[in-house]
Amino acid sequence: MTGPDLPTLATAAQDEVARQMQICNACRYCEGLCAVFPAMELRRVFEGGDVDYLANLCHNCGACHYDCQYAPPHPFAVNVPAAMAELREESYARFAWPGFMAPVFARNGVWIALASVVAVAAFILGFALWSGGGASGDFYAVMSHDAMVAVFAPVFLFSLLALALSLVRFWRHADGGNAVPVTAAALWRAMKDATTLRYLDGGGMGCMTESERPDRQRRTFHHLTFYGFLLCFASTSSGTVLHYLFDWAAPYPWWAPPKLLGVPGGVMLVVGAAGLIRSDLRRDPALRPDPARRSGMGAAFTWTLLGLGATGLALYALRGTPAMELLLAVHLGVVFAFFLTMPYGKFVHGLYRFAALTRHAHEQAAAHPPEAAAPVEGRDRR
Ligand code: SF4
Ligand code: SF4
Repeated sequence: MTGPDLPTLATAAQDEVARQMQICNACRYCEGLCAVFPAMELRRVFEGGDVDYLANLCHNCGACHYDCQYAPPHPFAVNVPAAMAELREESYARFAWPGFMAPVFARNGVWIALASVVAVAAFILGFALWSGGGASGDFYAVMSHDAMVAVFAPVFLFSLLALALSLVRFWRHADGGNAVPVTAAALWRAMKDATTLRYLDGGGMGCMTESERPDRQRRTFHHLTFYGFLLCFASTSSGTVLHYLFDWAAPYPWWAPPKLLGVPGGVMLVVGAAGLIRSDLRRDPALRPDPARRSGMGAAFTWTLLGLGATGLALYALRGTPAMELLLAVHLGVVFAFFLTMPYGKFVHGLYRFAALTRHAHEQAAAHPPEAAAPVEGRDRR
């Protein structure tokens, strides 16, 4: 006996999440742990859109697995974090645009590693053939600003388009295609939940990182990575503004915005990504999908972020040395590969999760209007 008989959904991963949600909906022991369980409780039947939505609402904190009385070896074999993780990765492929790119999610680690190696090699070769020399420490003497824009702008803009169209596909499909309005209140709630990682804390106790003892390491490293990345993005954006609006070209002094934002951002990105890699290596394998179905997506993403930060900082430290030209080639190659693979790797988890949090904020507000609000019963440990 493994649970109730259910209609078959489109994929085995959806079926498995629907099966486990039926069991959880009868049990409800974990209802205070995160957003998934309150969202689950608003449903009696789980269609494909419902389970895709719930899977992207899960933050994989692991708390419900360690607390579950129906976890293996119980015949119900409930393992919500692993089932959600597998369906989440599958959903990234199903909603990818254009659709023919979906197969790259299956062997994602290999694809991203290959893209990075080819991009770095292409920049090294290109500089060897056409570089004007960088002994002065001037990046634009190695590759002109116009050439950089011509190489990076098309791939960046294409990736933004692909991400936007994938997000629209997910949004329309999630929750059975119910037309949920995107209200300012729901967006604000989702923004607060996403930027504070409200649900990566096991209901207030912390994330199961390396053992059954919860801690806040994963949340801290995720914050460092996310905000470090934002600072690096702000650094690049400020350089673009200075170049085009103020006719002020790089190299910039240490006190200029690109440096003031980029250096701490790079340090935070390196520390955060290295911490996430270490924590993932030591994490209980039970919280992840079956080894045969793992794609290497998470590892590829964090290693790419680590590469972005580390090569950027190395370039900053050694720009006045003979190593500058090689370091610039490596850094630009990593950046190019990152832009290229953004819509086809774990980068999309941020967008889909934000969309799921927005939908969650809306439906919880509709289900529990202020005048009907009552304390949540159960195990809310916050
Ligand atoms: S204890 Fe297990 S079955 Fe019950 S709600 Fe938690 S995860 Fe689901
Ligand atoms: S966020 Fe944590 S508690 Fe909630 S479903 Fe996912 S793993 Fe379980």
